[in-house]
Amino acid sequence: MSVTVVVGAHWGDEGKGRVIDYLASKADLVIRFQGGNNAGHTVVNDLGTFRLHLVPSGIFYPKVRCLLGAGTVIDPAYLLQEIANLEKAGVSTSNLWLDRRAHVVWSYHRLLDGAGEHGAKLGTTRRGIGPVYSDKHAYRGIRIGDLVHPKLLSQRLEDVLPLKNHEMAYYGLPPLELGKLLNEAEEWRQKLSGRIIDSLPIVRRAVESGQNILLEGQLGVMRDIDWGIYPYSTASSPTAGGACNGSGIPPRFIREVIGVTKAYSTSVGGGPFPTELSDSNGDKLRQLGEEYGATTRRPRRCGWFDAVALRYAVWLNGLSALAVTKLDVLDSFDKILLCTAYRVGDQLITDMPDTIAQGKVEPVYEEWQGWKTSTREARTWNALPNGAQAYLRRIQELAGVPIRYVSVGAHREQMICL
Ligand code: GDP
Ligand code: MG
Repeated sequence: MSVTVVVGAHWGDEGKGRVIDYLASKADLVIRFQGGNNAGHTVVNDLGTFRLHLVPSGIFYPKVRCLLGAGTVIDPAYLLQEIANLEKAGVSTSNLWLDRRAHVVWSYHRLLDGAGEHGAKLGTTRRGIGPVYSDKHAYRGIRIGDLVHPKLLSQRLEDVLPLKNHEMAYYGLPPLELGKLLNEAEEWRQKLSGRIIDSLPIVRRAVESGQNILLEGQLGVMRDIDWGIYPYSTASSPTAGGACNGSGIPPRFIREVIGVTKAYSTSVGGGPFPTELSDSNGDKLRQLGEEYGATTRRPRRCGWFDAVALRYAVWLNGLSALAVTKLDVLDSFDKILLCTAYRVGDQLITDMPDTIAQGKVEPVYEEWQGWKTSTREARTWNALPNGAQAYLRRIQELAGVPIRYVSVGAHREQMICL
């Protein structure tokens, strides 16, 4: 039995996609368990550079079954485009499956996402994710499995449309037409119905027969609906707890929880980000790390490594190991700062406060000497410069869990396994 969860230990975009792509060579099944196409997981391998938004990052191995789990939300039009792009690049998607319980993102969810001033302030990706999860929780959602029952689907849409049109009118948007939505759904049914399954018997058999299963999280703990920087959070739980719910694998079968973090910190979207740099160091991190969102191409906010957020991720996910990515981005810095605590008023704290969303915390830093050597060719721990080893050891010490992987470039091969 081997179930491994891979989650983001910061604000998202830590490099989960590339870690999944690396680990999937030994996997039988990869499951995305929450979120939708607001994710952007970049994979660089011999087949090319791919930005995956819905399709799990195990798709590059034909023998690996890839599943969008019950906890995800799926924009069928977007998924069909992503499938077409992958096929065009020579990547087979014949092993991609969708659980019947995943919810459908409709055009009205996209239109309502971020509508109005309040929405705009939060900096959402406008992919309809907040609205579709709120419909799910208000029992107004439509599930992927409903697409294959046109009569039921039509009834469900008729039931929800009056209220949706009320919302559309509130934001000055044109009313929705049932016929148009049904036509779209018919196209999706024709193209996707062969992939729509009840995944639970398959997942259960895979767990019981000891197959290697990877659960792929999206975003990071700081965007969790319960524990993140609400309301600048996402609408689901990108944590190990969410992984169990969204995949249908009970907690006691999880053997390993890997937290992915960059060697510095970044955040896309609004909300508190205590170590954010607005100086030349921030620009340098953005430039060297190519920190532009995979979904929106928005410039990512960049800052020094936040170990307070990491410790929070370690606890909330029960992390058993870390994967530290993008070490190479720090190669040319003279000095590197590491945030070990926050100052709130005259208090020094190392636990993430729930008041962080009020923006009143000030990072407390340690200063580290840069190693000023390229790490990009390193493939073993011993090949890393002493300064980089010391910096990573300190991160490990602050986290209280071992670093298992270090990446020194975006390509699949640029990985050190400890
Ligand atoms: P995810 O959302 O957690 O999967 O991460 P993203 O794919 O959104 O962002 C990570 C970015 O960093 C991508 O552009 C990756 O290609 C890139 N990347 C990942 N690992 C490394 C690394 O070790 N070094 C460098 N330079 N880039 C990396
Ligand atoms: Mg991303």
